[in-house]
Amino acid sequence: MPRVITMTTADDTLQPFQLENHAAQGRLVRLGDAMHQVLAAHDYPPEVATLLGEAQVIAALMSGTLKFDGVLSIQVKGEGPVSMLLVDVTTGGDMRGYARFDPEKLMAVSDKEAGGPQQEVPRLLGSGYFALTVDQGEDTQPYQGIVPLEGATLAECAHGYLRQSAQLDAALKVSVSQVDGAEGSAWRGGGIMVQKSAFSGFQSIDGEATDADFDDAWRRAVIFLGSSTNEELLDASLHPHDLLFRLFSEDGVRVFDPSSFAMKCRCSADRVQNVLVSFPRDEIESMKIGNEVVATCEFCNVDYRFDADQIETIFRESVSG
Ligand SMILES: [Zn+2]
Repeated sequence: MPRVITMTTADDTLQPFQLENHAAQGRLVRLGDAMHQVLAAHDYPPEVATLLGEAQVIAALMSGTLKFDGVLSIQVKGEGPVSMLLVDVTTGGDMRGYARFDPEKLMAVSDKEAGGPQQEVPRLLGSGYFALTVDQGEDTQPYQGIVPLEGATLAECAHGYLRQSAQLDAALKVSVSQVDGAEGSAWRGGGIMVQKSAFSGFQSIDGEATDADFDDAWRRAVIFLGSSTNEELLDASLHPHDLLFRLFSEDGVRVFDPSSFAMKCRCSADRVQNVLVSFPRDEIESMKIGNEVVATCEFCNVDYRFDADQIETIFRESVSG
């Protein structure tokens, strides 16, 4: 479907920034369409969509933290009603994701409403882990960091990951919601993250930089970040620059070139065929519904259909090739 994009504000964007005193650097993420298309591809209950959207914002923020050429993915696994969240983002900003959940278990906790959205992780995911993987392609060793799911919200779990696994002094704030717009209700997300810079670059106002000044400046940055509201993070009409200047005006902020995100799945008929031929032939036969095998991409929900003749061809070619 063609979309009319108004260029008044930057959307689906990653905006890197640095405080003028060099105490902290960070990035702001805005996700509009790139989030809505991921969340609307499946019929998720709102609380599951919200969690998946938060994982998207976190993946976007983290993708700005690491220098990589490939795919960064966030995988969250739990023993609760939501058993998995998976989001990946490429260096070029292609994003996709999906969630797995058990509708009956979800209904049971929804009835109780124990803790509400402030306790989404214990309530919806339960115990499990938060993992970040960077895959830079063939002939490279994938990087992976894993921490247990500890925290009330996914943002708290991500913070735990940054502290324990990446050993970064960082703070982040994430917001996801359905927002009414001109084209009806759509999912939007936003987030900001700051990380403490090295002391060596720190510039104090009076010239003489001390450890105490540096720690104060860092603490201020965390407080300013915390003062951002959900409305500000989600407001498509508030330019990322304006929000950053508003939040960090006391210490000053410098913005760098932004990059963009789009929902784009990397699935293809070829890839699905490669998966099909990895199964024993009789198992493929048992997957047939009527005369065809339908394989659905978990990410984008697109169906790949193969009729009996096509399956015959795929297997013949895989044997001869
Ligand atoms: Zn797909």
